[in-house]
Amino acid sequence: MNKGEQKRQVIFDRFVKNRNSLIDNGFIIGEKDVYLCPICKGVYHSINGDNPLTLEDAPPKSLGGKAKVLTCKKCNNIAGTKMDSYLVNRLKDLSNQSLPKGKEIPIEMIFNDDIFKGTFKINNDGSAEVKSSRKNNNKLRLDEKMKKIKEGDMHKIKLIENRIDFNKVKYALLKTAYIMAFEKFGDLLLFDSNFDVVREQLLNPEKRIYPQDFCFASPYEDKIDGVNIIMTEGIESILVQFELKYEDINRRLIVFLPCMINDIFSITREISTKKQKKFYNISNNNAGYVNNIDGVKLLYNWIKRRKKIK
Ligand SMILES: [Zn+2]
Repeated sequence: MNKGEQKRQVIFDRFVKNRNSLIDNGFIIGEKDVYLCPICKGVYHSINGDNPLTLEDAPPKSLGGKAKVLTCKKCNNIAGTKMDSYLVNRLKDLSNQSLPKGKEIPIEMIFNDDIFKGTFKINNDGSAEVKSSRKNNNKLRLDEKMKKIKEGDMHKIKLIENRIDFNKVKYALLKTAYIMAFEKFGDLLLFDSNFDVVREQLLNPEKRIYPQDFCFASPYEDKIDGVNIIMTEGIESILVQFELKYEDINRRLIVFLPCMINDIFSITREISTKKQKKFYNISNNNAGYVNNIDGVKLLYNWIKRRKKIK
């Protein structure tokens, strides 16, 4: 078994053990000794197969994330190509827009009648360099243009940005939050129908299924990084906070997920009526609920009490 396989096996065993204990204690019903892909709920008796279980990073690895759970290869591919890639490109654009010293940033040089590709760089001494290469442009046209440029001519340059689908950027954030929540709650989330809408959204990034206003720049400090429960009555929900890092850029975000008490539509409706996105009654159980049956019991007692009040 190589290192990657070993890591996948450890995660597999951890969640299978947790699932068995949730079934034995009557919290969920279903087949024992299996791992379910948290996105499509595909059933696995081992880590390998035609559509094997793969490491899923949350946040994406290139944005500072780590592998915490397994998803099937199919779901992992959809997440990578149809959601995470847009999020990564967005961070790359933000990094370029901040014009970090010493970095060559792709640009378009706009002359009155022509556009050429090039790069822009701010040197450490504060001077700036604009370069165009004959490789990326029509050589003859570029040579012709360079001959004609006179001192004092004004030209524009424009940063080249990636094509971003902002809905998919949001769904990538939703996926990161959901994977982090699954790492904390395990199969309890698979059994909670309020989460069906999350899974449906992640399986169908081309459609709009999840309500739109579920993620925000974080108003909180880093001490609540991770998966939290909002205990405030009426908006009981799961709040996931994480930081994305790319070169000199970092962004701390919060994402709202449903919980067993409220569905996400009623939660986002409640949130939209509040001017401040700061809710003080936040609980963070650092231990998590995977293989912590006493923690699950306490959680369920709280859920039962809240449901009675409603
Ligand atoms: Zn899957």
